[in-house]
Amino acid sequence: MSFELLEKFRDPALCRKILDKMESELDRELRFMEVCGTHTVAIFQSGLRSLLPEKIVHLSGPGCPVCVTHESEVNAFLDLAGHENVILATFGDLMRVPGDKGRNLKKAVADGARVKVVYSPFDTLKLAKENPGDLVVFIGVGFETTAPTIAATMKMAREQGIDNLRILCFHKTVPTALDALLSDEAINIDGFILPGHVSAIIGVEPYEFIAENYAKSAVVTGFEPLDILQSLNQMIEWRNKGEAHVANNYTRIVGEHGNPKALEIMYEVFEPCDALWRGLGLIPGSGLEIRPEWESFDAKKQFGIEIKESPALPGCKCGDILKGVKQPDQCPLFGKACTPANPVGPCMVSTEGSCAAYYKYKLD
Ligand code: SF4
Ligand code: SF4
Repeated sequence: MSFELLEKFRDPALCRKILDKMESELDRELRFMEVCGTHTVAIFQSGLRSLLPEKIVHLSGPGCPVCVTHESEVNAFLDLAGHENVILATFGDLMRVPGDKGRNLKKAVADGARVKVVYSPFDTLKLAKENPGDLVVFIGVGFETTAPTIAATMKMAREQGIDNLRILCFHKTVPTALDALLSDEAINIDGFILPGHVSAIIGVEPYEFIAENYAKSAVVTGFEPLDILQSLNQMIEWRNKGEAHVANNYTRIVGEHGNPKALEIMYEVFEPCDALWRGLGLIPGSGLEIRPEWESFDAKKQFGIEIKESPALPGCKCGDILKGVKQPDQCPLFGKACTPANPVGPCMVSTEGSCAAYYKYKLD
């Protein structure tokens, strides 16, 4: 985006106007959840968090790929670290995510495990070629944003005859998680700020059920202050009229039908499966697993890994935070036993995690 255009989406006078309008139209508390971790950070970074009317309760949702990775999935990749002839490949954020017994990948490296931080799944192709006597296992976490790239990497590996690359597949799909949140009567959400990047892949239609089945609103939203304010304002207006809609306010990036090519590659390689989410538990059909035609890439099959419920980290409230039931500073460990330098739970590790954002921008 050009600098001039960017400035338009940050216009302070226009922001103030919308904020005043929102303030005057709110007659009761409304609870809005932003699904995507990048929105969480954008809301804090731009200063919007402290400017929003008091009647808006701002919740962070299950939109950080690292945070939603289930305890048992973390323990599974930690169990793999140190296996003979295994090189784990991962995005950097997973290095400090805590598993059971105080384990994490950084400590595993100190104990001799071979772990390589990569910036793109495509980097694993080179790694596999350079280490023909080893298995390179890529830890695949994240949503519809990352899954197509991993599918493309697997296709390239097959084309190039690379047979020592495996994928530990923990991918999850966003709309199914929102459905699970809305169907839980203990969770109270009036509307969603929908993720920009995930929506660029899946489009808008997969979210229509939010208005149709639950009479709640949701808006696909960009990451600039005016993007966010306009979406919140729109949802307040609809609610005042007794309406509920799903809309796309990020048309400069997100098309109605998403990115059909990326979806095609993703579903050529993966198929839906049940998945465990941190805090949300088992959600039917919310994960992606490797199709039988591609099972030679499947690290779960190769190592007989079973993902099942395992105990949550003692004292950590990440699960409640990802459901919008608690705010980070309602966790007794927040800012005391748990800080970005010494994270107890994943929400304090990832830059997209709500505890980390809360800590960085609220305590400073
Ligand atoms: S992958 Fe993109 S859409 Fe998903 S949480 Fe991260 S920034 Fe948001
Ligand atoms: S403050 Fe730490 S322990 Fe508490 S919920 Fe957040 S990450 Fe978990």
